[in-house]
Amino acid sequence: MAAQTHLLHPLHCLPVSLKTQNPQKQYHYFKHKPINPVVSKLRAAVIGGGPAGSSAAEALASGGVETFLFERSPASAKPCGGAIPLCMLDEFSLPYHLIDRRVTQMRIISPSNLVVDFGKTLKPHEFIAMLRREVLDSFLRRRAESSGATLMKALVTNLVVPTSSHEPYVIHYTMDNCQRQLAVDVIVGADGANSRVAKSIKAGNYATAIAFQERIKLPEDKMGYYENLAEMYVGNDVSPDFYAWVFPKCDHVAVGTGTMCSKSNIKLFQHGIRARVKSKIDGGRVIKVEAHPIPEHPRPIRVRGRVALVGDAAGYVTKCSGEGIYFAAKSGRICGEAIAKASEGGEKMISEDDLKREYLRKWDDKYFTTFKFLDILQKVFYGSNAAREALVELCGDEYVQRMTFDSYLYKKLASGNRLNDAKMVMNTISSLVRCNIMGREVEASAQKILSRV
Ligand SMILES: Cc1cc2nc3c(=O)[nH]c(=O)nc-3n(C[C@H](O)[C@H](O)[C@H](O)COP(=O)(O)OP(=O)(O)OC[C@H]3O[C@@H](n4cnc5c(N)ncnc54)[C@H](O)[C@@H]3O)c2cc1C
Repeated sequence: MAAQTHLLHPLHCLPVSLKTQNPQKQYHYFKHKPINPVVSKLRAAVIGGGPAGSSAAEALASGGVETFLFERSPASAKPCGGAIPLCMLDEFSLPYHLIDRRVTQMRIISPSNLVVDFGKTLKPHEFIAMLRREVLDSFLRRRAESSGATLMKALVTNLVVPTSSHEPYVIHYTMDNCQRQLAVDVIVGADGANSRVAKSIKAGNYATAIAFQERIKLPEDKMGYYENLAEMYVGNDVSPDFYAWVFPKCDHVAVGTGTMCSKSNIKLFQHGIRARVKSKIDGGRVIKVEAHPIPEHPRPIRVRGRVALVGDAAGYVTKCSGEGIYFAAKSGRICGEAIAKASEGGEKMISEDDLKREYLRKWDDKYFTTFKFLDILQKVFYGSNAAREALVELCGDEYVQRMTFDSYLYKKLASGNRLNDAKMVMNTISSLVRCNIMGREVEASAQKILSRV
């Protein structure tokens, strides 16, 4: 029987307190039920209780692995626009009452204020869901708990990586003002863009953008304008390499922007988006100001030993749209399922090869092309005001809208028709050429405005 032959870590069998080589120092392991070496389960710790961590913990616990989910601040959530694609509701069985707004109109506004309404091609049941992360995250964490994961309201302060494949990882954490440790077999690093787990396993760095957002409570009549509408603004005044947004929430809007190439000017760009939407947010009250890094590409290392990184910690945010919630939850789930499968329901120790085969390869097969494609689109369309004018002009085309929405809402590259694809390429080229002339003029006036701020 697998349970009788599987590898076990010696620390599983240790008493709660263990003497180390240094007699002054004692490790106090998390107290758990006495473990019978023959029937002991694989033990996993998931660090970070965002969408990535909770989804990983749910899959691990449901798959028979003893699971601890660490979250330092369960009462709050990280800064986020909170837009998720339609397919996530079904795939992750998210109840509709979590949604604040169903956006059916996406307006994109060019540097010269050309306005295009996206959404003409949406079917009656289709929309972009807008929610608050505090609501989504606590729902997903509760579900992980009800699948059997133990939620640890704790800050992980250090991770001690073993020197041999038979020893456990030791997590140091602070809970209820006490320093404690927990020994585990496997770690899932879901602790976001500033990942401590990634540093501990020397996973290497990635470039990041900075995103800044203000949550603004609007007077009722002004909020009505954003009932089911989200806006995206492009232009050098709001971001040199990304877009700025106004996303509706339950009783307020999130107004923000991001940049990778000019982080020190982020407040200037926020000033830019505020100026563009001035008449729509006049009389509004800022209720929260928040900023956070966004990874720009995956880390050089995403699996080392028995540690796997998922979500932002791994670097799974798409260029162009800055979308990461769905990919965080999806990578967490794939990783959790991979560990449960490789360990045969928690009965067997796993290895780095298992994680690479069952998690990394599956992830890359599914999403590598999508991430590359969006990377190229960002380079083509966000580089200059001329290109941004072309982007907005193209968005007016129904075929482009359908392809874009289908890809976003259902997370698969939409299958088009060859003739329309060819037309789309021709339109792209002619828009880029035409807008190059107009864009230069807009660029010059934007520079003038910026130099006056
Ligand atoms: C301003 C902004 C707007 C965005 N808008 C959108 C959007 O509209 N749609 C979209 O899809 N994506 C958006 N993103 C990206 C999205 O927020 C992230 O991709 C997503 O949150 C990644 O989820 P995650 O679970 O990997 O990490 P996070 O959501 O960052 O979760 C990590 C969790 O780990 C916890 N943690 C960290 N360190 C420790 C520790 N040492 N001990 C214990 N716990 C720890 C944190 O408290 C946190 O809860 C936006 C990002 C920003 C910055």
